[in-house]
Amino acid sequence: MVSDNSAKEELKRAIDIVELIGRYVELRKVGRNYVGRCPFHGDNDPSFNVNREKQSFHCFGCKKGGDVFSFWMDYHGTTFPEAMRDLAEKYGIPYTPSFYSPEEKKKSRARRSLFRINEISAKYFEHTLEDPKKGAPGKTYLDRRKIPPDSRAAYRLGFAADEWDGLLKQLKKAGVDTGLAVDAGVIVRGNGGKLYDRFRGRVIFPLLDQRNQVVGFGGRVLDASVPKYLNTPETPVFHKSDFLYGLPAAAPGIRNSGRVIVVEGYMDCIALQCHGLSEVVATLGTSLSKSHIRKLKGYGSEVFLVFDADEAGKKAAVRSLPLFLNEGVSARVVVLEAGYDPDSYVNAFGLDAFTEHIEHAPGLFDFFIEQQAETGDGSVEQNVRILEAVLPLLSSIENDMQRALYVQRISQHIDVTEQVLWDELEKRPDGRGRQNTVTRRWISPAGGTIEKRFDALHILNLLVHHPETIETLKSYNCTCLIEDAAVRDILVAIFQLYGEEEQCSFDFLHDRLESEEARRHLREAYFEGSRFTGDEVDLALAEIETKIENRRLAESLAGAGHDLEALNRVLELKRLRDTAAGRPPATVQS
Ligand SMILES: [Zn+2]
Repeated sequence: MVSDNSAKEELKRAIDIVELIGRYVELRKVGRNYVGRCPFHGDNDPSFNVNREKQSFHCFGCKKGGDVFSFWMDYHGTTFPEAMRDLAEKYGIPYTPSFYSPEEKKKSRARRSLFRINEISAKYFEHTLEDPKKGAPGKTYLDRRKIPPDSRAAYRLGFAADEWDGLLKQLKKAGVDTGLAVDAGVIVRGNGGKLYDRFRGRVIFPLLDQRNQVVGFGGRVLDASVPKYLNTPETPVFHKSDFLYGLPAAAPGIRNSGRVIVVEGYMDCIALQCHGLSEVVATLGTSLSKSHIRKLKGYGSEVFLVFDADEAGKKAAVRSLPLFLNEGVSARVVVLEAGYDPDSYVNAFGLDAFTEHIEHAPGLFDFFIEQQAETGDGSVEQNVRILEAVLPLLSSIENDMQRALYVQRISQHIDVTEQVLWDELEKRPDGRGRQNTVTRRWISPAGGTIEKRFDALHILNLLVHHPETIETLKSYNCTCLIEDAAVRDILVAIFQLYGEEEQCSFDFLHDRLESEEARRHLREAYFEGSRFTGDEVDLALAEIETKIENRRLAESLAGAGHDLEALNRVLELKRLRDTAAGRPPATVQS
């Protein structure tokens, strides 16, 4: 059996963090780091940093960071043991979980049973579709919708026959606890406690997460009965509001083309992919959420929203605008001719006609303005109305540059000068006028315009990037200069490890620190790069030495109190030192 610790070490060696995270976040090499837009917060600047040598990541925006396991846990919402298991499986490292907390164990076991029940159910539905008798209505439906057999297999489409206990029997046969099957959402407990299948007489679309695990199901009726679509309810493994159908199949296409097409239904998604457009995902009939956009923007994509031409579709497009503005993601709107959805459109006119629409899609913001203007006559009243609709949106944009760009665009659209728009914006309660500057979360690397004050973080930076200073700084006892407890903990750990270990590795140090705040400071120090160029290192050391001496003097003065003789001694000492350093003698203030 391989223990958790040795498996963890082996995995860390086997996984290239840049390659792994790069599958989910578009990364660009900048110096020693790879940077991208953080998938964990509304990131406009690329604040998310990954470092191969240190096998770690850190976001300067939301401060999330850590190793491959932390990334996996945060990104996929798993527990630590699940992250270990997933990654071990992915990289072919044998691993048997040995010890984790009872709480984690319970959570992990519960999720595992849900995945198992979903998998059994998916197989059952697939099998039923293949059944010449039971599956016939499903097959006929899919034939009519022009979904070829290989696509059915790729999406693991299935069929739930019109019976009350087909799946229930199957689950019982597999020894599944029926209570858990209710938790998984595939079985319903009716009034009086009677159990029955949730999906009956429906074509089944298994919902696969990015790890290709079945998290739930969608079922579509064959006729005009309602509800037309039925989904698994919310479970610990399925959250409708952040689920994107078709993402595992679409991910490589999204990465290649740099764009993603978002449609509303699974049939639209499958139809477009069948016609050769791979970069398509579907929301499950819900409107696009913040989590959806965050998931998508990790791929560095421009988003194309395909809406129905009806009023509801246009409204949905307009409603999503603030989300895109806030996430700093550019979006374009595709509106098809009335009466068509992507599925029927591509089947009627072919892929070329559809991509024509994509290529000429207006930006979401312009679409919004057009929508506002469409209903009016270009009068002053109408422009005022547009302005009223647009100002709250403008002030919701956090990025100054983007806001300036949109101000310019609106000023061109409606007949007002940019100055008027800025004035109006400044009057708003949130007051995002032109003067607001973005607080850069990025600390400029060495060579930038950093004020060379030797605060705690400068000392930490010096130690981390110039290990040759460790011995000197240790002898200075410089921890006395540091008030921040978390930073002090790091220094204490560095000095302790120095001499004890061959080299004070980032990993070793990071693992040794107890508080997340200390770990965060350490990551930031590594990721920001050195703040000091070659000859600045010696100057920094000299400055720190002076600071420490001054501090000792101050302490001695305070300690001397009314002891006149001692006070004179200290002052004499100070006078001597100042003269030597060419500074004017200190005057004692009463
Ligand atoms: Zn972040």
